[in-house]
Amino acid sequence: MKYTGRIILLFLSIMVSIIESFSEPTNLWSILEAVTFAAIAATLGWVYDKAVFYKHKVEMSEISLQNIFKSSPEPIIVYQDEKIVLVNDKFEELIQLSSTELIGKSIFHYILPEYHPTFKRRLEEMCEGKRSLERIELKIYTHQYNILDIEIASAPFVYNDKPAVEVFMRDVTKRNKLEEALRKNEELYRFITVNTTDLISYLNPNGHYEYLSPSCECLLDFNQEEMLGRNLFEYLHPDEIEKVKTLLIEADTELDFASFSHRIKKKDGTYIWVETNARTIRKNSRDLEGIVAVSRDITERIEREKKLHETNVMLRFISNMDGLTGIPNRRYFEEKLQEEWNRTKRSTLPFSAIMIDIDYFKKYNDFNGHLAGDDCLRQIAIALKETLKRPADFAARYGGEEFVILLPETDKKGAAHIADLLQANVKKLNLPYIATKKEPIVSISLGCATLVPDEKMRPDDLIQLADIELYQAKKSRHNQFFLNQLSHLA
Ligand code: GH3
Ligand code: MG
Ligand code: MG
Repeated sequence: MKYTGRIILLFLSIMVSIIESFSEPTNLWSILEAVTFAAIAATLGWVYDKAVFYKHKVEMSEISLQNIFKSSPEPIIVYQDEKIVLVNDKFEELIQLSSTELIGKSIFHYILPEYHPTFKRRLEEMCEGKRSLERIELKIYTHQYNILDIEIASAPFVYNDKPAVEVFMRDVTKRNKLEEALRKNEELYRFITVNTTDLISYLNPNGHYEYLSPSCECLLDFNQEEMLGRNLFEYLHPDEIEKVKTLLIEADTELDFASFSHRIKKKDGTYIWVETNARTIRKNSRDLEGIVAVSRDITERIEREKKLHETNVMLRFISNMDGLTGIPNRRYFEEKLQEEWNRTKRSTLPFSAIMIDIDYFKKYNDFNGHLAGDDCLRQIAIALKETLKRPADFAARYGGEEFVILLPETDKKGAAHIADLLQANVKKLNLPYIATKKEPIVSISLGCATLVPDEKMRPDDLIQLADIELYQAKKSRHNQFFLNQLSHLA
């Protein structure tokens, strides 16, 4: 009770005054005496009440200090006369010893020697009554000889009426390890990005460069500042803008990785080919935060591939062409026959072939020599080829002095017409067997065949038919010297 002392003393003084009034007659003097007595009693009561109040307050604050000390989430000790005098549970946990084992020990027992001077200085400052909010970091041993990184704050303290130091600690081992790992990673990434010949870039979701490795100078002749903040699309080749736009739209939602080849503009306006591997970086909400891209110069590779492709095309052309006449050879003919056969089969249109053989070519060679024979073959090949006008028509040297013509989507009538033209155009070459005007000139025999390809037939059937027709033509022609005759049309 707040007024207990005052009430009791006042009550006692009144009681004393009443008792006195029974033994002595009441006069002014006795009244004055009673009032004075009551005033003294009230003052003493007030002093008593205050003393009780402050004692209570001190007790309460000690209890609450003890509570804070005990329930602190961080380790705390009280250090006095070079000894630990008080520890909380967290400090026991930290060192892995109980308070009875810790109390009375020197704190230096647990601090690594190289940190002794720093901590000694701090203790001296505290003893001089200096308050320091500055935190210091040191390393301590635990009971198991594990080494921990500890951050320390301290304050002068009075314990058992004697000066002491309260030491507040925080275990920062994990934080320091993380910071160290982070620092190492940063150093590693910096080393890679600064020294790589690849272009490493970071783009925001709109495609603006937020980071570029210094290699942009070597690869593109732009320095980092010139490209930072600019949009990727300013540097892409127009042919690849749509492709990259689509990828960016997909990256906004679900695409997390992409690898693609594209061209990128250099400062002088020319382009280099790069192969880019890009990965998205997302916020916790999966929203796109940015894109990291690594682009490698593959210009040389692309050029090599282009050359290889050109060489392959050339080799293919060479392997398909007849060396003497320059028109397709038998190998290419077989390929073409199959291809055109399949195509015509789907269209259910007629397919014609003409087999051609030069008449009495052996004699031509005998009379004019092999070189003239070669030249004759060349001229006839060109004449045959030039007679054909439709893109699908095809002439090849079948072997020796024999040629073959493929006429896809052409009926008997059309084939007969072409056969006439071929024969006429070879005649027009006017190649005499013997170089006098009177001698007959070189002619050809032809065998035509026409089929509507179906599942039961093979492409060779068409060629065989044309060959039979050619044989017939030869037979009748041999009856009429130097006269070539068109076979009866298939
Ligand atoms: P036919 O009227 O019955 O067709 O008689 P032919 O003499 O034309 O036929 P044959 O099969 O008896 O002779 C073909 C000749 O073609 C023999 C060969 O020397 C000649 N020949 C084949 N290939 C070439 C070539 O590349 N160059 C030259 N100059 N002659 C060739
Ligand atoms: Mg022949
Ligand atoms: Mg012949």
